[in-house]
Amino acid sequence: MLDLIDVTKAYRGGHRAVDGITLGLRPGVLGLLGPNGAGKSTLMRIAATAARPTSGRVLLDGADALARPRRLRRTLGYLPQDFGFYPELTGREFLSYLAAAKGVGARTARTRIAELLGLVGLGAAADRRLGGYSGGMLRRIGIAQALVNDPRVIILDEPTVGLDPEERARFHTLLSDLAAERAVVLSTHIVPDAEAVAADVAVVAEGRLVLQGRPADLVAGLEGRVWEAVVDPAAPSALGEWSTVVRSVREGELLRVRVVAPERPLPDAVPLRPGLEDAYRAALGTGPADPRLPVGARR
Ligand code: ADP
Repeated sequence: MLDLIDVTKAYRGGHRAVDGITLGLRPGVLGLLGPNGAGKSTLMRIAATAARPTSGRVLLDGADALARPRRLRRTLGYLPQDFGFYPELTGREFLSYLAAAKGVGARTARTRIAELLGLVGLGAAADRRLGGYSGGMLRRIGIAQALVNDPRVIILDEPTVGLDPEERARFHTLLSDLAAERAVVLSTHIVPDAEAVAADVAVVAEGRLVLQGRPADLVAGLEGRVWEAVVDPAAPSALGEWSTVVRSVREGELLRVRVVAPERPLPDAVPLRPGLEDAYRAALGTGPADPRLPVGARR
């Protein structure tokens, strides 16, 4: 469907926000994970033709989407981090306006908009002005606007920011339904969001792809390497130089830590079942590279 090939984006001064990323988008949800500043938004903007890469190619069904972006834009739904809206328009008017701008016929738009407003739980608020919407409601109208042209490729940049747990769960269900026939990219720094819906996960750090795969495979690769230990913070080196600290909780003078390490890092460390958060942290590599981590996890 949509392919990004060796895409780089350098800003003034030569800083590379995205540095040679190749990524194929196919039906299903791809969770794009990475810390703030990793380059996720820049990559999403390039995929949505909202920004041009400094080098690299963007192909839609094999055809150059940079030279001729119209075809991609017609079939694309994009929710940027900050989407512009008009506070004086109602939710329904806003969606109608965007549907018209995207060339959706009036009758199709009317039905589709009513359906979408229901899907995102805004049926009752459809005729209220956006200026009076809460942050979570605006997020949901943002999700609806990305779907108004029934896109084949859906790009959502941090869509769950500001959603409460119930809205988040509903959103996960909606995404799973959509992803049966559509390529959905969900960029987030919240690992459980990706865990809930992503068939594939890609981790970006400092503009580079550092890990990619199916969550179950990434987790299986860490079997026998995730440990819990209680350590004295005054002696942090006790964990050894190959350990990645995933989480730590203070217990009085001590710290209870969850770490990824190739071997039992301390004599009384207890093995834990690995999760996606462990794979993510290990890929970001808070410690020196572990030559025994799965390929792609090394930095
Ligand atoms: P993320 O979405 O993962 O938080 P971004 O893509 O927003 O990351 O940013 C990646 C890097 O590029 C950051 O270092 C950021 O400061 C830089 N950056 C983003 N946009 C611009 C811009 N318009 N001009 C200069 N630098 C930018």
